[in-house]
Amino acid sequence: MSSSLLQKLVERYELAERAGREGVWDWYLRTGRVYYSPRWRSVLGLSEDDVSESLAFWLDRVVPEDLIWLQATLEEETTATPLSGKPFQIEYRIRDGQSLIRWMVCRGVTVAGEDGRPTRIVGSQADITERVTAEQRLRQSEERYALAARGANDGLWDWRLDTGEVYYSPRWKEMLGHLDSEIGNRVSDWLSRVASEDLPGLEAAIEMHLKRERSHLEHEFRICHADGSERWFLVRGVAIYGFDSFPIRMAGSMTDITGRKKAELRLQFNAFHDGLTGLPNRALLLDRVGQSLDRQKRWGGRHFAVLLLDLDRFKSINDSMGASMGDLVLTTSAARLLRVRRTGDTLARLSADEFGILIEEIDDLPEALVIAHRFADAVARPFKMDNRDVVLTASIGVAFSTTGYEKPDDMLRDASLAMVRAKANGRARVEVFDSRLREHAMEQMRIESELRAAFEQGQLCLFYQPIVDMATRRIAGFEALMRWRHPERGLVPPIHFIPLAEETGLIVPFGRWALLEATQQIAAWQKRFPRPHPLFMSVNVSSPQFRDDTLLTAVLQSLKETGIPPSSLKLEITESVVMQNPEHCTDIMNALRNMDVRLSIDDFGTGYSSLSYLYKLPADTLKIDKSFVSLIRNGGENTAIVQVIASLASVLHMDVVAEGVEHEEEAAFLRRVSCKYGQGYLFARPAPADQIEALLVNEATGSSA
Ligand code: C2E
Ligand code: MG
Ligand code: MG
Repeated sequence: MSSSLLQKLVERYELAERAGREGVWDWYLRTGRVYYSPRWRSVLGLSEDDVSESLAFWLDRVVPEDLIWLQATLEEETTATPLSGKPFQIEYRIRDGQSLIRWMVCRGVTVAGEDGRPTRIVGSQADITERVTAEQRLRQSEERYALAARGANDGLWDWRLDTGEVYYSPRWKEMLGHLDSEIGNRVSDWLSRVASEDLPGLEAAIEMHLKRERSHLEHEFRICHADGSERWFLVRGVAIYGFDSFPIRMAGSMTDITGRKKAELRLQFNAFHDGLTGLPNRALLLDRVGQSLDRQKRWGGRHFAVLLLDLDRFKSINDSMGASMGDLVLTTSAARLLRVRRTGDTLARLSADEFGILIEEIDDLPEALVIAHRFADAVARPFKMDNRDVVLTASIGVAFSTTGYEKPDDMLRDASLAMVRAKANGRARVEVFDSRLREHAMEQMRIESELRAAFEQGQLCLFYQPIVDMATRRIAGFEALMRWRHPERGLVPPIHFIPLAEETGLIVPFGRWALLEATQQIAAWQKRFPRPHPLFMSVNVSSPQFRDDTLLTAVLQSLKETGIPPSSLKLEITESVVMQNPEHCTDIMNALRNMDVRLSIDDFGTGYSSLSYLYKLPADTLKIDKSFVSLIRNGGENTAIVQVIASLASVLHMDVVAEGVEHEEEAAFLRRVSCKYGQGYLFARPAPADQIEALLVNEATGSSA
């Protein structure tokens, strides 16, 4: 080969190498020297001056983990006999001039000498860092996605819009309760399982994304699971568009969101429903009443009414029979009311024993009243409880739309005022709101705060009315009767403030005070006017005082402070208080009886006590109500009632006190039927302590005279 030809060849080779991406190396096995082409060096960012002919110049830069492979490969090439003659290829990492790690692909071939033994290995190497990292990144992101999908429990789907084929991942099918083989590869395999109400929405969402009206698909819908249950799913996806910007493919994930969805629906439900009965709550009722008000304002039309239904004496059932029985009463009542409710009307539970009902589309008030009575009747059917029939009644207040309401709260408030009136008028009634009720309510509120202040300022006082022995007409004891000494109105009788005090609970502190005051008074009189049978004192107690142990502790405290014989204290309880809650009352009465305190059934005959209870009550006195006493003078069968009560008492070994004795004829008759004691204007009117004391002094001097 001529030198110029050789020169040209070298030149051509060098140009070709520079243009290419590969550097050349040539290892002479005999001398151990290696030729590295300039491109070989520049690929690694080594300078022109970095010249060496040692193999170490190369291998020292190779990353240790990869060096083993590279050395092993080269060694195999140098020792193999006979030579394969086939090129080898290996990918490895190397540090470049700046110590950065690069991926290289190294190809080589072994050249044999005349003796057939390897003399050189010639090869090239190129930088493939970019390709490898891209591959790695891709693999990583694929792995990451697969992991994420698995972690998020997502199913995957991939829909070829051109062929209509859909790939559903095994997880996708599993979420629907199906085996891989049970679901095909058509879009109908998906859509046919979607709940029919949700299908149009899902199709619209897909459509909108495909038309690029939405950047991506994201939609919640229900699907029928293989086990027949309904599951909520969230689908997310994106479309891929072809050159003509026509969608060719859409792929995405599907997530089971049943749990979240149920919690959401539950929360929504809870915000507007009562936990115990599942009925709508106050918020929902107010909302519906608001809608009715709006509707009427805008379009006029038919009337509507709001009923407020309160169970009578629910509290005493709850107190005496326990909260779980109370709950049972409430759920049973709710179910009964629900049965009576007309479709379209709203029945809500407003508080413990209070229900609200919106009655829509009615013509007039009488129609509302008919419906109200239907609800009342539903409640009034007896309940079986602990093998006993318990009868519950309801008091209902009605507010009618013609009153002209602006706000739903106002309508509910007025229904509530009417309900309170129904209670005050004896319960188990329906009352309609009128504006006088509102005034009355304001008045009540005013009196209540006045009453509280009156108590604190010591305006309450006790009057005493003698109870006399009918045979001798001597004073045997007294009844303490509360009065309110009003700075302007003068003496206010109990009828004007006791009911309100009972309603508001003020009667509890009032009663405690009265008990102490009356026992202190009788202690003083017993001391001053000693008798073989000490003078006794009767004190009235009302039902709120029976609610807890406050009565017992108040009695104990009074007895301890005054030291009177317990048998000279009588507590007067009306029949109706006892009958409201016989068991609970009997317990407390027994406890009192064990303390030797005496008990009187007040206003006897006006209530509806069953005789069976009367036998069980640990009472020692019956007080015949004055309404019967006043009938005596009419004669005939009216006298019979008094006679029956008197003989009943004697059968039960109870004392009898006749109340309201105003005339001598009455006294004479009562004596004839063996009524032992009498109380009334005939003998003495209720009076302050000093006037009563004068009577006692009189009696003492009279008897001694
Ligand atoms: P009550 O316990 O039945 O008291 C008897 C009522 O009859 C008293 O009315 C008394 O003044 C009245 N009275 C007595 N003799 C005659 C008579 O001959 N003719 C007529 N027409 N009436 C007579 P008062 O003092 O107005 O008390 C009314 C009710 O208020 C009492 O009825 C009692 O239920 C209640 N009350 C009074 N003081 C208290 C109290 O300290 N605590 C509680 N819880 N209630 C009380
Ligand atoms: Mg009384
Ligand atoms: Mg009475």
